[in-house]
Amino acid sequence: MRHNTEKLKTEMKTKSNGGSIKANKHVPQRTCIGCRKSKDKSELLRIVCGEDGSVTVDESMKAPGRGAYICKDMSCFDRAVKTKAIERALKLTAGKTDTKDLRALIEARIEVNAES
Ligand SMILES: [Zn+2]
Repeated sequence: MRHNTEKLKTEMKTKSNGGSIKANKHVPQRTCIGCRKSKDKSELLRIVCGEDGSVTVDESMKAPGRGAYICKDMSCFDRAVKTKAIERALKLTAGKTDTKDLRALIEARIEVNAES
């Protein structure tokens, strides 16, 4: 029975050393401006405000300029438009942003993602 006790001891040691159950990997998290949920960066689309003030989807995910993240989900986009979260996140003048073009861009990106 000595063997069993030893095993138990080791297990307890491992547990106390292991601490909390934080198995979180270091995946960068970003908040969607539509639903405000934190997600892995890879699960989101980045939209960026260019120098000319036009808003586009940042394919590279690292274009310069003020960016915001949004789920690959049109309902999040619609919500972000409705709540003016896009304008706020990108520091744009509310109501002056052409979200129609952006919507088409995001829609296209979501379709590409769904196919691949
Ligand atoms: Zn979202």
